[in-house]
Amino acid sequence: MSETAPLAPWLQGQLVSLLAQRGHALLLAGPSGLGQYELALALARAWLCEQPTAQGACGVCGSCHAIDVRTHADLCVLMPETLSMELGWPLDEGAQKEIDDKKRKASKFIRVEAAREAVAFTQFTRSRGDTKVVLVYPAERMNTESANTLLKTLEEPTGAVRFVLATEAAHQLLPTIRSRCQTHAMGWPPEDQALDWLRQQASAAGVKSASPDDARTWLQAAGGRPDDALRLARAGLTPATWQRLPQALAQGDWTPLADWGPAQQLDVLQKLCHDLMACASGGRPRFFAAGQLPPAPRLTALSTWARELAQAARSVEHPYNGPLMQEAWAARTRQVLAARPPRA
Ligand SMILES: [Zn+2]
Repeated sequence: MSETAPLAPWLQGQLVSLLAQRGHALLLAGPSGLGQYELALALARAWLCEQPTAQGACGVCGSCHAIDVRTHADLCVLMPETLSMELGWPLDEGAQKEIDDKKRKASKFIRVEAAREAVAFTQFTRSRGDTKVVLVYPAERMNTESANTLLKTLEEPTGAVRFVLATEAAHQLLPTIRSRCQTHAMGWPPEDQALDWLRQQASAAGVKSASPDDARTWLQAAGGRPDDALRLARAGLTPATWQRLPQALAQGDWTPLADWGPAQQLDVLQKLCHDLMACASGGRPRFFAAGQLPPAPRLTALSTWARELAQAARSVEHPYNGPLMQEAWAARTRQVLAARPPRA
């Protein structure tokens, strides 16, 4: 989602109710893919806008424009450097130079230096309007030191400073951070809204086929999370591929996943494991259709596999021998799926 595009309808509704609230620190919490960042930015834009309405920012004033071109003096965006670069937010000059000079790599966490700058930002004189805003996303990417740096300002901000923190893992935040914010639980979109939105966004992103059937597959494969579904759409996922996937993996055929990154591959295996566990305990699958799944192995075998996958997911961002690990995953998947429960 681009912030200049209209906000998705289910986010717009949440924006209106959040704008009616007071409180200087908000925490937008929920699982990934529900639009935390887009909602946080829309809030920041509305708080800073020169002619805001109950619906949000005007979109045309100097303040709105300054945010759109990433140069607003009263907005501080605190993010991991990798994400700032991806989303086009400028880094601090010193940090940018260190990365350009290859002294270090861009950080995947919110560095304590950046948190200190955010604190300094809240103490500068205001330059544009009455309000200053600090946006933190994803807040769980603050380590203890960064979080503690921010904590005091969050507790007793100087002047008219407002905070919006957005997180995809609220349980990983320091309790002291959570307790200083008003928490808003991100809402899930109604299915028909999500499907319409997905088809529009996929077409706008140049995805060739965006039929109702395609959209339903993306949304199901993403467990109902629209941003994640759009990512799958952009990656070219087709209903045929998704439907064939469980049987292919059961037969040791890794080709449908071959072009995906390791984190996405693991994500698919975790979804498959989740659905097989649901079936094995008499429930319904969430990500795949029941008819597409191989017979569920024993629950104990699946629990072991689930633990292995969770362990692998924790280190998936670290450097490792990719092809060898993928071969191991493929072999293990086939082994687990081949272990059928005894016939009753
Ligand atoms: Zn405006």
